[in-house]
Amino acid sequence: MDLPVEEWKSYILEKWALLPKSVQVTISKAETLSDIFLHSSSLLQPEDEMFLKRLSRGYLVGKDPNAPLFYREEGNKKFQEKDYTGATVLYSKGVSHSRPNTEDTSLCYANRSAALFHLGQYETCLEDIVRAQMHGYPERLQPKMMLRKAECLVLLGRLQEASQTISDLESSFAAKPTLAASQFQILQRTLCRLKMKIQKKENLTETVSAALTKAFEDMDLREENKQISSASASVSLCTDPFKGRYLIATKDILPGELLVKEDAFVSVLNPAEVLPLHLGLESKWDTRVTNGDLYCHRCLKRSLAPVPCDGCSYAKYCSQECMQQAWDLYHNIECSLGALLLTLGVFCHVALRSTLLARFEDAGEVTRKLCGDISNKDTRLPESKNLVQTLSYDLGGESEKNGKTVETPIPGCDINGKYENNYYAVCNLLPHTENHSAEYKFLCALSISALCRQLEAASPQALMTGLTSSKLKAAMAPVLCPESSIWGVAMLRHMLQLQCNAQAITAIQQTGSKENIITDSRQVRLATGIFPVVSLLNHSCSPNTSMSFVSTVATVRASQHIGKGQEILHCYGPHESRMGVAERQQKLRSQYFFDCTCPACQHGKHRTTAEPRWEAFCCCSCRALIQGDEVLSCGNASCTESVSRDHLVSRLQDLQQQVGIARKLLRNGKLERAIQQLLGCQHDAESFLSAEHSVVGEIEDDLAQAYAALGDWQKSAAHLQKSLRVVEVRHGPSSVEMGHELFKLAQIFFNG
Ligand SMILES: [Zn+2]
Ligand SMILES: [Zn+2]
Ligand SMILES: [Zn+2]
Ligand SMILES: [Zn+2]
Repeated sequence: MDLPVEEWKSYILEKWALLPKSVQVTISKAETLSDIFLHSSSLLQPEDEMFLKRLSRGYLVGKDPNAPLFYREEGNKKFQEKDYTGATVLYSKGVSHSRPNTEDTSLCYANRSAALFHLGQYETCLEDIVRAQMHGYPERLQPKMMLRKAECLVLLGRLQEASQTISDLESSFAAKPTLAASQFQILQRTLCRLKMKIQKKENLTETVSAALTKAFEDMDLREENKQISSASASVSLCTDPFKGRYLIATKDILPGELLVKEDAFVSVLNPAEVLPLHLGLESKWDTRVTNGDLYCHRCLKRSLAPVPCDGCSYAKYCSQECMQQAWDLYHNIECSLGALLLTLGVFCHVALRSTLLARFEDAGEVTRKLCGDISNKDTRLPESKNLVQTLSYDLGGESEKNGKTVETPIPGCDINGKYENNYYAVCNLLPHTENHSAEYKFLCALSISALCRQLEAASPQALMTGLTSSKLKAAMAPVLCPESSIWGVAMLRHMLQLQCNAQAITAIQQTGSKENIITDSRQVRLATGIFPVVSLLNHSCSPNTSMSFVSTVATVRASQHIGKGQEILHCYGPHESRMGVAERQQKLRSQYFFDCTCPACQHGKHRTTAEPRWEAFCCCSCRALIQGDEVLSCGNASCTESVSRDHLVSRLQDLQQQVGIARKLLRNGKLERAIQQLLGCQHDAESFLSAEHSVVGEIEDDLAQAYAALGDWQKSAAHLQKSLRVVEVRHGPSSVEMGHELFKLAQIFFNG
């Protein structure tokens, strides 16, 4: 997903292998990014581009005139099955393939408004009704939709508008008597129902959840840092030759304190499971739900009723405004390149978008220096931690000319020593050019140069205009002759930076039915972004912060007490609760090019690798833990019990199947039977799994849900507390997972 598709990757690697040794050496030994780029891109042949074009043709990104009808019918099926969310997504897919101002568009919007109505999303339903009308909804179908509009308005308490809509309807019935009889009856009945509905109280738990989300979004840094934008005044930026740049606490920090709140400089939604068509889908059109169907392609807000780009079928937005902004900033150029960008992967896409966004940076002093960096300084010198000196030396020279004395010891900071979320800071993230393999650099360079050629072909003016409008051109032109290679080198730099600096933007997706009082959730990867301030944090396998996202904004909070002078650390992925030491070390070395010396790694090296408690089995007669490879024997010296691993594994599988049955009962609202089933599972689990086994935790969690649905808050809380203990052992007391469980417990106590 991040890198180009396999076919292109192996094609390029084969091409590399066939290069004359001398050419390979030239590219491997090239010290500057622009040398790597120029040498590689001169090797890109027309047949290579043809091959890439053929690969991209597999992605359906344009508007297919036959698709709207197909998706509408599939949506109608879901609607009939009362799967309104499923129907909504399919109608959205229909909209994204429809041309503006056609009956197709209006019908898809109208049907979607009906599904949204059933989901209780009245505001969004009204928006879709307006959209349906805007795109020419047929006159004959109007009354039905107007009734829906009136109903929404009543439910939203906008009674005056509702009665206006109703009287408009009545007068239009009067004008067309053929409609009147049946429709008027429906209207009367609906009105009665509406008046009853408005008496009902709103769902309390939902309000609480919504209020919490709102509070979370509005949370601001208590005091913003004067040196680092988007960071709290409790931290400060340091640098040293071994660690590079890092943040330390300037005062004692309490758990929960907000340390960084930063909007991504750039982000690209991960297409998730967009598969090329030739991978054997039954239909030409995909009915599966992907992130691309649920989240805005610009701001990443979740939306069941997106509006699609007028020019393609893959970019969808939460609102007209978001669509316009995306268009003005980057999508006007990306729109026609959708298939190519899917083929080349997310990193390439992020690289392109970063340079497109750079056109809108406030130029001036900062940009001038930045251009110097990319075109000669930074690329001329081998990457090293000594960049610090280089940069301050160069800046010093420059400032002398201006007759001022300036000290900027830290890369990425501007002339006043301020570090900001801007393109200059992005460019100063290390690309680790010397650490990547020559093949990888070749792959990136050729992918970027193929993209550059497409850009020139698709919108020859785009690059020029972009360059003229910013001061990039003026600053870079003397250094590199062909204009597209300025872009190419910048994009190559970003692509190489991403391996270490890409930040996965995640979202919490609610799982389980809406009727459940306690919501269950899982974390999904939504997008890949660059956060210059978050990138200042170093890694630890047992970090003292935790990170979360609201749309494209990252927040970093202290997850434990951090003493004054201590370093602020977050985890790049390999967390001690999810991976063993060896696996973590290997991952950090290959992806991030360093050996982790965090306390968890130091400590872990001296520990024997016993089975973690959340996967351990216990003895059926004395309940002590049992250990071993193929045959496990009891850890209790006075017990002679032993059992084969195969036997235990198959028992575990049976148990998981039983739990699955219980969940199905739970989902279908058969609560009593679900509880009986779960208690059986619990009893079975006790006889062979450790008390902290993750399956034991899951059973307790399900029991908590079942009792909550019955309104037995006391029992629900008791079971959830057992599940909490398992989560704590597995993920640690200050983990996000623990946070989710505690939030559930809070919901239960609140309801109780
Ligand atoms: Zn949006
Ligand atoms: Zn588009
Ligand atoms: Zn570590
Ligand atoms: Zn035993």
